[in-house]
Amino acid sequence: MPAGRACPILPQVKEDILPQPLPLARARGRTRKTRVCIIGGGGTGAALAYDLSLRGLDVVLLERGELTSGTTGRHHGQLHSGARYAWFDRAIAQECYEETLILRRIVPEAIEYNGGFFLALTEEEAGLVPDFLAACAAAGIPSREIPFSRALELEPGINPRALRSVWVPDGSFDAFRLPLSFFAAARALGAVIRPWCEVLGLEISGKRVVAARILDRGTELAREERIEADYFVSATGAWAGELAALAGLDVPITPAPGTMVAVRGRFSDRVISRLRHPADGDIVVPQRGLSIIGSTQRVTDNPDSLLPPREEIQTLLAEGAALVPAFAGARVHAAWAAARPLAGRAEGDEGRSISRDFSVLDHEARDGLAGLATIIGGKATVLRAMAEKTADALCARLGIQAPCETADFALPSWRDYYTGRRP
Ligand SMILES: Cc1cc2nc3c(=O)[nH]c(=O)nc-3n(C[C@H](O)[C@H](O)[C@H](O)COP(=O)(O)OP(=O)(O)OC[C@H]3O[C@@H](n4cnc5c(N)ncnc54)[C@H](O)[C@@H]3O)c2cc1C
Repeated sequence: MPAGRACPILPQVKEDILPQPLPLARARGRTRKTRVCIIGGGGTGAALAYDLSLRGLDVVLLERGELTSGTTGRHHGQLHSGARYAWFDRAIAQECYEETLILRRIVPEAIEYNGGFFLALTEEEAGLVPDFLAACAAAGIPSREIPFSRALELEPGINPRALRSVWVPDGSFDAFRLPLSFFAAARALGAVIRPWCEVLGLEISGKRVVAARILDRGTELAREERIEADYFVSATGAWAGELAALAGLDVPITPAPGTMVAVRGRFSDRVISRLRHPADGDIVVPQRGLSIIGSTQRVTDNPDSLLPPREEIQTLLAEGAALVPAFAGARVHAAWAAARPLAGRAEGDEGRSISRDFSVLDHEARDGLAGLATIIGGKATVLRAMAEKTADALCARLGIQAPCETADFALPSWRDYYTGRRP
């Protein structure tokens, strides 16, 4: 498109101006005296491994399965602009939006920045539009109502009987490529990433965690090993309660599974959301040649055995068809479930009242056990921010002066994780 012309597809916001390319981070020969062991190889662990390596720490990351085999490899893939949260948690909404801007700059390869429409399907929902726009504005998230006829022109697959439509800067991302770019960056800076290594026990000496006992299944003969470190961080998501129990600790975490259904056919290019307070089946995300409707929410004690219940699949297909009618006759490609790591305890409401925020638990301050922290809650969109706050807390605890720099450098390609290429 010629420079200076407005894009005919998306309403213009100043953030749509293409960002300047960033340099890749390079190891800068800092002393690597402090060894940190991260437990959990999802997006949170990946971003933390990169952040700490960039600050010059010596990092080893242990993941019991394949990388991203927990919730990270099974979520909806929506790059949350924060609009969905603006109504009830302005701080989370703002953080989401700020992080989407950073991710679009540092890892554009993993992101499809396609924007999103919120659709009001009923009079009641149409009445929510002014509040919704005001909440987005208060959170600093660009949004604007566009005539529904225009929305339908841009997205002919949406329900033609919708009443009002609001554009927001949502997007979608590849659930695997995003964390793999962080893993590639961490490894290029010297981090040791060890999939197939399960932490079976934590060794405590005095009042400090000093080592992890692991089972390494990545070798021909599975073998046990002892890993020493100055500090351990549990980034085990929905399994954080089980990991903490290895040190005799109680961590308030609610694994909250949600179901998603992918159907064949890309029925929209944008994320299509229902303009109502969060409920089951209110978001359709386009992913490659599929459309994914999600999700639901319940709670479980066991995040390892999750099957998508038949009735939830039916509900999702019906809700999907309300937003995008082609869902009604589409061929189901896959249905699956994954567990949200909600930071708190459910009080009989399927965890819906638990905030989607995250917290870093310093077990020395909280439980009198040094050398261990747990990061719980959050969402994939804010993985970099989660890592930054965790690394800040860890550095403060260890007396290390090293600021976060992960927003300042581009990440390498996700392919580099496999090729081992170094920037
Ligand atoms: C239904 C659903 C839809 C979602 N949709 C979105 C979305 O569209 N956008 C978004 O931004 N977020 C979304 N989320 C949230 C997002 O998926 C999660 O917040 C995020 O993936 C959590 O990443 P994590 O790295 O903290 O946890 P995980 O990816 O679960 O990683 C934890 C890892 O720890 C490992 N582990 C556990 N115990 C041990 C042990 N003893 N030893 C070694 N390793 C261990 C596990 O194997 C696992 O791989 C969704 C979540 C759900 C459930």
